[in-house]
Amino acid sequence: MIPVNEPLLNGNEKKYLNECIDTGWISSEGPFVKKLEDQFATKNNRAYGVSVCNGTAALEIAVEALGITKGDEVIMPTFTIISCASAIVKMGAKPVLVDSDLQTWNMDVSQIEAKITPKTKAIMVVHIYGLPVDMDAIIDIAKRHNLKIIEDAAEAHGQTYKGKACGSFGDISVFSFYPNKLITTGEGGMVLTNDEKLAERCKSLRNLCFSSKRFVHEELGWNMRMTNLQAALGVAQLERWDEFIGIKRKMGRLYTSLLKDEKKISIPVEKTTYAENMYWVFGVISEDKNVTAEMLMKKLAEKEIGTRPFFYPMHLQPVFKKMGLFVGESYPNAEKMYKNGFYLPSGLALTEVQIQEVAKILKSVLN
Ligand SMILES: *Cc1c(COP(=O)(O)O)cnc(C)c1O
Repeated sequence: MIPVNEPLLNGNEKKYLNECIDTGWISSEGPFVKKLEDQFATKNNRAYGVSVCNGTAALEIAVEALGITKGDEVIMPTFTIISCASAIVKMGAKPVLVDSDLQTWNMDVSQIEAKITPKTKAIMVVHIYGLPVDMDAIIDIAKRHNLKIIEDAAEAHGQTYKGKACGSFGDISVFSFYPNKLITTGEGGMVLTNDEKLAERCKSLRNLCFSSKRFVHEELGWNMRMTNLQAALGVAQLERWDEFIGIKRKMGRLYTSLLKDEKKISIPVEKTTYAENMYWVFGVISEDKNVTAEMLMKKLAEKEIGTRPFFYPMHLQPVFKKMGLFVGESYPNAEKMYKNGFYLPSGLALTEVQIQEVAKILKSVLN
């Protein structure tokens, strides 16, 4: 079986975890937490890092810290993970969707301005599958309409837009350290910002809004703290940041060379004017209307190849339909991507031989 994802944990992970146990520092009070926050912020050219228990929590804290609340609207892609929309909905605000661009698979930036109303407070940008959104266009719109930018870089660790780190563009930027992300802490996430007040607000929200008078609370927060055990893993993983980026790019280039002449599928673009793909995962979209992702994934599973479907667009989610959201809306590109798209084994432990095997089997299944 070739798994869809397998992380690499063969650096200093064990050593640092043992350090936690030997010293007794296992909670969020331990020294690796601050270390990871500082190192991760520096790596991404940001002033402040606030670690949290997962990427979903990072999004929730980001939305709340920006003061987004009942009656507000946030523009975001329909093609993304539920965490993006649920963070907005849980604050009583309304997600306003845009379709995807079939070239980059990212949000179609040209659809944003038509969606702006007096209620719009922010744009939530999500870099999909390792290729950045066109940030200059986003920044221009945000400036002209006085909107905040929430940047979800969970799938773009180590990626750059015109040479600047993804995760360095948002008023608040968020990352996940789930095991399929470039670096992992098992479960974990990070909020990055250059704004000291926002960073303090995130820290407070993450920690039950404790005030200077212990156990006296002026506001309600959450317990979304990261443990020292998680951060220990993160510090070890971060040491291999550049190596991991290299592995992803190499993997993507090999898949590309093996699959680029296959007319029945489209594969990720190699580069745009502003970035080179870093192939966080290697997606494929069937270009034959009658051959769905579900059919191909089933055939690949029979040959012991692990895959994952693409995201199910937000406007089709039963939970949001029940809330009366997105009634009658349709986003054909995102719908096509969901229906015909899935991704191939893309983990850091994947070998070249395995990639060749996956490409060979995919081709035989297609033809
Ligand atoms: C993985 C991911 C998240 C959620 O992160 P978790 O740590 O699993 O909660 C959020 N946004 C995007 C784009 C992701 O890929």
